[in-house]
Amino acid sequence: MSLHLQEHLSLRPYNTLAVDVRARYFVQVDSVEQLCEALSWAKAQSLEVLLLGGGSNLVLSKDFAGLVLQLNLRGIDWLEDDAEQTVVRVQAGENWHEFVQWSLAQGLSGLENLSLIPGSVGAAPVQNIGAYGVETKDSVVQVQALERDSLTPVTLSAAECDFAYRDSVFKQQPNRWVITSVDFRLSRTPALKLGYGPIQGWLTEQGIDAPTAKDVSRAVIAIRQSKLPDPAQLANTGSFFKNPIVSAAQAQRLQHEFPQLVSYPMADGQVKLAAGWLIEQAGWKGFRQDDAGVHAQQALVLVNYGHATGRDILELASRIQADINQRFAVQLEIEPVVYR
Ligand code: FAD
Ligand code: NAP
Repeated sequence: MSLHLQEHLSLRPYNTLAVDVRARYFVQVDSVEQLCEALSWAKAQSLEVLLLGGGSNLVLSKDFAGLVLQLNLRGIDWLEDDAEQTVVRVQAGENWHEFVQWSLAQGLSGLENLSLIPGSVGAAPVQNIGAYGVETKDSVVQVQALERDSLTPVTLSAAECDFAYRDSVFKQQPNRWVITSVDFRLSRTPALKLGYGPIQGWLTEQGIDAPTAKDVSRAVIAIRQSKLPDPAQLANTGSFFKNPIVSAAQAQRLQHEFPQLVSYPMADGQVKLAAGWLIEQAGWKGFRQDDAGVHAQQALVLVNYGHATGRDILELASRIQADINQRFAVQLEIEPVVYR
């Protein structure tokens, strides 16, 4: 076997929540051939497989008895390139933020609002990563994957990925595919999205009247750094809950009771509530129990101050969910993937 298998490995350095659980087996694969070999080996041993990118959207609540497989496939290829736009194929193990910065350096735009999101390119379609009014689905042409059971390579069109708010067919059917590469259509004529959050304000403050895609990326990086904890300093897994989507009638009732309610009408008539606002109103911002806490600047982010376990974090999440349900009759859904 050409694989370098490790045994009983601590996954603490491999998840941004810094939870210290162990993998019975751990392997990094650099090619699709190695990936097939690793999947076949796990199947022969009847082992479960946990796919790992950057580990920034995971909650690991106990030791993993199977094979943890980290995808290290690298490379970016140009598939189409003309004066207007381009299509690039990016291997799953590329770092997302580095890819975004690479695209900007090539004069391509479309991903600037998604700067500084941790993790790998292969995981980006899984929850259709989004920020500042832009989602991965806006640029994805198709996704190349390997069907885990049959080891058959398949291509899924963007429509087949069934992208939705922080969701996709890959999140819905978690054990079916390994994403091996993603094709993105990027533009040489930027159509910048500045109307979300404080992006325009930051640009104005800097005296930038005619921003480029690179300026927008700089704005997003600065804004994110000012309010979101860096997992290298304070372990976290980003937003812990999705923003709840409620009916217009429920939003109206809540608005009546809580005039400051932060809500955004959606195209389909429903209303998105800011989960962070609900949690803050309920008094959880800055809360800490032992090493599990709610971030002091952004109530949507749960943090590990050192030795919290995945269970400690999930227990805190349950308390918050119950409280929000009781106060606002709104059910918060956990965003990261939980391995119980
Ligand atoms: P992992 O955590 O390693 O994996 C996540 C899930 O995807 C797992 O179920 C895993 O099995 C599966 N998976 C991973 N790779 C593959 C693959 N190649 N094929 C199939 N399945 C795979 N998310 C946003 O949407 N917007 C944000 O703005 C954002 N900001 C964040 C900020 C911080 C500080 C942090 C810590 C997280 C943030 N996130 C955000 C969440 C996270 O960065 C994204 O979900 C990211 O795409 C996860 O990538 P990863 O490689 O770390 O995935
Ligand atoms: P923010 O700007 O304080 O905004 C709070 C919430 O309001 C966000 O969740 C956002 O929803 C929503 N919102 C703000 N302006 C909006 C608009 N013009 N139209 C519709 N909805 C609007 O949020 P933040 O925490 O600093 O995060 C900034 C961006 O990065 C957000 O898009 C957020 O989703 C993303 N982010 C995601 C994660 C993650 O792990 N998923 C972590 C950090 C940041 P949306 O979340 O739907 O955009």
